[in-house]
Amino acid sequence: MNKQKLWDKFGQTFRDFDLESGAYKAPGRVNLIGEHTDYNDGFVMPMAIEKEITMLAQLRPDRKVKFYSLDYDQLVEYDLDNLEYDEENVWANYLMGVIDEIQKLGERLQGFNLMFTGNIPQGSGLSSSAALEVVTAMAITDLHKIKIDGVEMALLAQRAENNFVGVQCGIMDQYISRLGQKDHALLIDCRTNDYELVPFKNDNYQIVICNSKVERGLVDSEYNQRRRECNQAVEFFAERENVEITALRDVELETVEKYKDQLEENVYKRAKHVVSENERVLASQIALETDDMQKFGELMYASHRSLSEDYEVSCKELDILVDLAAEEKIEGARMTGAGFGGCTVNLVKKDNLDQFVANIKEKYKEKTGIDADIYVSNPGDGAHKF
Ligand code: ADP
Ligand code: MG
Repeated sequence: MNKQKLWDKFGQTFRDFDLESGAYKAPGRVNLIGEHTDYNDGFVMPMAIEKEITMLAQLRPDRKVKFYSLDYDQLVEYDLDNLEYDEENVWANYLMGVIDEIQKLGERLQGFNLMFTGNIPQGSGLSSSAALEVVTAMAITDLHKIKIDGVEMALLAQRAENNFVGVQCGIMDQYISRLGQKDHALLIDCRTNDYELVPFKNDNYQIVICNSKVERGLVDSEYNQRRRECNQAVEFFAERENVEITALRDVELETVEKYKDQLEENVYKRAKHVVSENERVLASQIALETDDMQKFGELMYASHRSLSEDYEVSCKELDILVDLAAEEKIEGARMTGAGFGGCTVNLVKKDNLDQFVANIKEKYKEKTGIDADIYVSNPGDGAHKF
């Protein structure tokens, strides 16, 4: 729907109060490299994708908030003074969480209407939830003329997901959705929360995302297990090395190898993945800055092998997608997101794009019986008013 049509729909849904209004967008993201490094104080490098949530917003003269989800065709209403988790309309909690965090800053809000629609596939690891939080934060702060910088807004959106929705996510998704820029990836240091834009523009290449359509089933229990193993590794190294080690971020690959025989096999493999993945992220930054796409592609393949063999968070379908990509001789491919389903991210020469898409679709279907969804995207812009 174009902007005018959206506003027409907004007018039909809500009474026009002739008060401050605006239109906003926030994108989903794909993590290019740096998987399972965030909770180890390490590095990640996502980019914003050209899929987003679009939101229209207008102030009301009372203390009511009304949200209309176009995609679910649901209209809900709450009171600013009494926001409680909504078991029925789960999507509304992402918006309420943002309001709650803004109110916690001591801001006195007035009522407003929000209407939104998105084209980010939900629950596939492309972070539709962060996009929804960030676009809501941008809409509300802009309508109320609340001054808040990009980092603060991203952190506020993260708190909304942690506290109100109850999902303990890291900072990556909200950071990239808010701070991403066209033709750039974002290198984020998950220890300091510092970030750096990394140029990612090469007209000969395209980022292609393949959705395995496998639901990320095992994630929670396996995720907790991996975190325990990482902590075990940290304790082990901290006791034996003479440098301060508070996270796997502080460990060198040499050290991991030195203790290979003394470590439990799984703990060794998890540590090896995290430590080597951090190195790959930093090497990827250099590769992109020097426009060395071949090198970046090799690092992507290496990341996948490490996730599949050492961290053991891939699954049959993701491995098939990466193997098929390698058969197409594209520059790079890897699973992206927490694993056990979700998507792969691929670096493909533009000249080979059509053939790549057609072959992957056909062969993946042949091997798994599943129709993969495929999205082509360049690094897009972060959240903005439009
Ligand atoms: P992901 O962030 O990986 O896409 P999550 O489970 O974290 O998956 O977030 C998905 C949830 O976000 C959906 O179940 C829904 O509640 C909400 N959401 C995302 N996009 C939309 C949308 N376009 N309309 C309504 N709710 C949405
Ligand atoms: Mg999410």
